[in-house]
Amino acid sequence: MSDDIRASLGAAPERRPTVRAAGTSGQPLDTRHRPLRDLRISLTDKCNFRCTYCMPREIFGSDYEFLPHASLLSFEEIERVARQAVALGVRKLRLTGGEPLLRRDIEVLIAMLARLRTPEGNPVELTLTTNGTLLGRKARALKEAGLHRVTVSLDALDDQRFTQLSDSSVSVATVLDGIAQAHAAGLAPVKVNMVVRKGLNDDQILPMVEHFKGSGQILRFIEYMDVGTSNGWNLDEVVSGADIVARIHERYPLEPAQAQYRGEVASRWRFADGSGEIGVITSVSQPFCGDCSRMRLSPEGRLFLCLFASQGYDVRAQLRAGATDEQLAAYLHGVWSGRRDRYSEIRGEQTVGRPRIEMSYIGG
Ligand code: SAM
Ligand code: SF4
Ligand code: SF4
Repeated sequence: MSDDIRASLGAAPERRPTVRAAGTSGQPLDTRHRPLRDLRISLTDKCNFRCTYCMPREIFGSDYEFLPHASLLSFEEIERVARQAVALGVRKLRLTGGEPLLRRDIEVLIAMLARLRTPEGNPVELTLTTNGTLLGRKARALKEAGLHRVTVSLDALDDQRFTQLSDSSVSVATVLDGIAQAHAAGLAPVKVNMVVRKGLNDDQILPMVEHFKGSGQILRFIEYMDVGTSNGWNLDEVVSGADIVARIHERYPLEPAQAQYRGEVASRWRFADGSGEIGVITSVSQPFCGDCSRMRLSPEGRLFLCLFASQGYDVRAQLRAGATDEQLAAYLHGVWSGRRDRYSEIRGEQTVGRPRIEMSYIGG
């Protein structure tokens, strides 16, 4: 089974970017006039959890072959790609995985990325998404290395439910301690992501709201998505963002809040009593492809232009063939300029049976 997945990941044939002359200047727009603003960098396909919606143990078991270390991009290679992406318009870098805190010496990479500057001389926003298990131990070092913020995933407050969902023996208290340490270290505001699945954890929506309301942490609800092909996704298990907002509003009145910038993934809602806000990510019920400005870099150096892509662009081959910075920039420019992706807008008959990369490989 793991071979099937591999076939839809690393072994996917390379797509060829639009060929541009080296030295193409300016910031590219894709075929739908979307700029490149975010780069998500997946540092590993390994994880210490087996969340049932992401890495079901039946597939990601003890015989699953993860990427060998030698195939991973080195920190220097990642920094080179990120530097050229920043020159082309990227303003936000997010480290993800798998579990990014499993990548050894991640602080060294963070320090390298924290030194990047936009053409105007400004630092780039540097964030990380984690399951929080190692955050308590690492928060201070991450902050000192130059990380700005973290997003922590937490799908339930009830220990038994959490164990079931994450298929791990880690306690909710460990993740909550990670959140507290991140907050104390100044990696704030900490965002907390909860993927909602009907019948599995939707009864945790209100307890989560009650726990995080007024804490300064921002809780964000994510509609369960059909990422990858291993989680057996079913539309019936999706609780829509509208439903989530209605359930919370009934108990704790909410008001819509303005988006902070174009392309913001979550729609924002403020508690009417002034005790903070929540976010809702509705990529199934209300797709936001029209503003999608995200490029994704896989652990072994493939660029993916959509979370639901089948194929990537082999930027590692460019790096290891000795591409100059100028050639690398031209390559990225060409890749982005040819982008047409809008999976969530066309989800349905057209997309049934398409191979899709796994979430644990490319990150959220
Ligand atoms: N391991 C880290 C973590 O869990 O935060 C980073 C990687 S994880 C793939 C990134 C995010 O994707 C997490 O917030 C996770 O809950 C979310 N995610 C994974 N599979 C998903 C799915 N099928 N639908 C919606 N969100 C999903
Ligand atoms: Fe691991 Fe994150 Fe996937 Fe859960 S969602 S299995 S923590 S990569
Ligand atoms: Fe972006 Fe693809 Fe998600 Fe649409 S489906 S918002 S193009 S990642």
